[in-house]
Amino acid sequence: MKYLIGFLVIVMMISCGGTKTYIITDTVHPVKATMETAPVPSNDDAADDPCIWIHPTDPALSTIIGTHKKEGAGLLVYDLAGNEIQSVQAGRMNNVDIRYNFPLNGESVALVTAGDRDLNSIAIYKVDPDTRNLVKVSARDIPLGLEDGVYGSCMYFSSKTGKFYAYLNDKTGKIEQWELFDNGAGLVDGKLVRTLKVDSQPEGCVADDIHGILYVGEEESALWKFAAEPDAETTKSLVDSVGNHVYPDLEGLSIYYANRNTGYLIASSQGNNTFVIYTREGNNDYVGTFQIVDGETIDGVQETDGLDVTNFGLGSAFPKGVFVMQDGTNPGTTQNFKCVPWESIANLFEPALIIDTTWDPRSIK
Ligand code: CA
Ligand code: CA
Ligand code: CA
Ligand code: CA
Repeated sequence: MKYLIGFLVIVMMISCGGTKTYIITDTVHPVKATMETAPVPSNDDAADDPCIWIHPTDPALSTIIGTHKKEGAGLLVYDLAGNEIQSVQAGRMNNVDIRYNFPLNGESVALVTAGDRDLNSIAIYKVDPDTRNLVKVSARDIPLGLEDGVYGSCMYFSSKTGKFYAYLNDKTGKIEQWELFDNGAGLVDGKLVRTLKVDSQPEGCVADDIHGILYVGEEESALWKFAAEPDAETTKSLVDSVGNHVYPDLEGLSIYYANRNTGYLIASSQGNNTFVIYTREGNNDYVGTFQIVDGETIDGVQETDGLDVTNFGLGSAFPKGVFVMQDGTNPGTTQNFKCVPWESIANLFEPALIIDTTWDPRSIK
């Protein structure tokens, strides 16, 4: 009977979405979260993707910005104790990302963008460092050419040209690259500079600003990389096939900058509740796999959509950097975001991963 039920489950998975089953034999290293944010306002699958904003003078005042893809809020801002300090009333937001030193109205601002699924547009905010709140700075509701509606998104700062970009994708596999700029009146406008393509539904993406690489996860198929510059070739190269180390869906992606050249690329392996680490440089070799398990007061992490990581020390809570991720199941309440000190992850492995707080993401110019 047990065998029969197992067989039926596999048949259902194949017939429902073409999802294949995989056997992944990587060792999974367990670690516990030390902080979780307040739960999001809506039930079901409502939280999606976080990014970390680093305060300009006091890293302990840094925040976690999370997306909310249901009615009631678009973006949520949390302090490093997990308290909600702002709920932004806006459309349903999917993925969020941040870049520093964006020239706006004579100032240098931290720019935050997200894919707005209600408007099929790019939501564009700056962080007010005094209030730590997000302030809308988009010049208009930029009309994307994503006929299927915006899904995943991420940002790219070109250390080659000094220009800022947002990448946005839809479920057909179309990816648009938009250059973002001050419209001359202190607001941010965009122009489409390039279109890329993958064969099936993508979502998570992240760009390496130093190496000029865009990574895109095709959820049930593969992790790809493209050259990120707008005038580069549009051909993609394979980083890893889904089923090797990642169990579908391949979801959130982020980069740990250990210094200018080295570090790690981290992916959410949603289907088996794990996170997969690759080297940042070279051929993105597989490094290891970890999982957030139940702690005494903070539960473990399941079905993660988006994630972010920083090497930079964020005060006494996270002196050696932090890994933050969406948690799909938060017992007794709605979804939230969980945080793990980077050194707890780094020390799971033998040899330990790099722990280096000297790289400042705000220093990329
Ligand atoms: Ca989800
Ligand atoms: Ca997805
Ligand atoms: Ca959980
Ligand atoms: Ca997602």
